[in-house]
Amino acid sequence: MQFENTLDFAKSLDKADDLGRFREQFIFPTQNEKEFIYLCGNSLGLQPKRTKKMLSEQLNNWGDKAVEGWFEGEEAWMYYHKGVNALMGELVGAKAAEVCAMNTLTVNLHLLMVSFYAPKGKRIKIIMEKGAFPSDQYAIESQVRFNGYNPAETIIEVAPRAGEHTLRTEDIVAEILAQGDELALVLFGGVNYFTGQLFNMAAITKTGHSVGATVGFDLAHAAGNVPLSLHDWNVDFACWCSYKYQNAGPGGIGGVFVHEKHFLNTELNRFAGWWGYHENGRFLMEKGFKPEKGADGWQVSCTQVFPLTIYFSSLQQFEEAGFMQPLREKSKKLTVYLQFIISQINKEINLEQFEIITPPHEEDRGAQLSIIAKNKPKEIFNALVAKNVLGDWREPNVIRFSPVPMYNSFEDVFRAGALLLEVTQQLLKAEH
Ligand SMILES: *Cc1c(COP(=O)(O)O)cnc(C)c1O
Repeated sequence: MQFENTLDFAKSLDKADDLGRFREQFIFPTQNEKEFIYLCGNSLGLQPKRTKKMLSEQLNNWGDKAVEGWFEGEEAWMYYHKGVNALMGELVGAKAAEVCAMNTLTVNLHLLMVSFYAPKGKRIKIIMEKGAFPSDQYAIESQVRFNGYNPAETIIEVAPRAGEHTLRTEDIVAEILAQGDELALVLFGGVNYFTGQLFNMAAITKTGHSVGATVGFDLAHAAGNVPLSLHDWNVDFACWCSYKYQNAGPGGIGGVFVHEKHFLNTELNRFAGWWGYHENGRFLMEKGFKPEKGADGWQVSCTQVFPLTIYFSSLQQFEEAGFMQPLREKSKKLTVYLQFIISQINKEINLEQFEIITPPHEEDRGAQLSIIAKNKPKEIFNALVAKNVLGDWREPNVIRFSPVPMYNSFEDVFRAGALLLEVTQQLLKAEH
């Protein structure tokens, strides 16, 4: 497609966009009584308008039924998570029994590592991406220590080659093969939070299994952003948060995936709690933990009804949008358009002012472009915020823009680009 950096062109793309109807179902933040151009869904997704209504229904339930709410009514809290699990399974390419909404992301990562990081003999190492989100680094490091090993000798980080910003699949594969039978676990992100790189999860999983390792993914930036086929890829386990691309609110409930091949494995360690006990016997309050079959068996505490309700409201929108395939098509087009506009800005100001460090091909990234601003990066970011463009800032010089297909438009991308050019020209002129 031949793109044009004009408002009319952006509007013509919006007119042809079936998903455009979802935009008005969200609440956009404002500043000086004007809506932001919100390009920060990679960090915190917007609030769907239906959320308040569904949450208030559950508050009424609590008021009207109190403890009976667990068992009474169409949406009895005892089984409420099952409706969420079914939609969540569709979203990540899993069977409903393979997923469960519970806790929060880093907590779930710990719980799953208790089950799936089982170092033994010389098979003790973990491979991860260098520059993973800090919470993952801390979780993995502390799990390694908990098992009595030294993180420096146990954790292998795959890094980009000198002068490159992103990882090559061939390098990840080679590192896994090189570690061979010393490798206990491959634990990767699905999409890297900093660069926006989408990893080849199918290839990573296959290679990990070929050397006898377990393979898990942190999908914080991937779930709700890119299509996933966790079951078919034969991934062992995964976890994600719901508040980034899944619009389920700050600190929203997390999700876990456990492949069904592990359901009957009684060798797996677990940090157990009563809600993971097999459902029909849970209230017998008997001694000796017997897990519910499926991902539900990894639950620890009772269902967090309110965060779950928020997540449910958002997942219903994903269902109405047709889940990830249509969203992904629009998402790719949005980032390609943004990429085009950034290149036009560089031409306009006759400088290589902006360098996109996200992979250049849309198949290799999610809904985010990470852009190094060579001159005056922080000043440019602040000036954009003052003009109601909200991306997000990463030290020392990276601006991340995430046009989210569920609620962003091509017009958003055009307008953000026009304002980026304007503030950059002003700030760089002021320098001379
Ligand atoms: C956002 C994010 C987290 C945050 O974890 P919480 O436990 O939800 O605070 C962890 N890991 C990755 C990769 C993330 O992107």
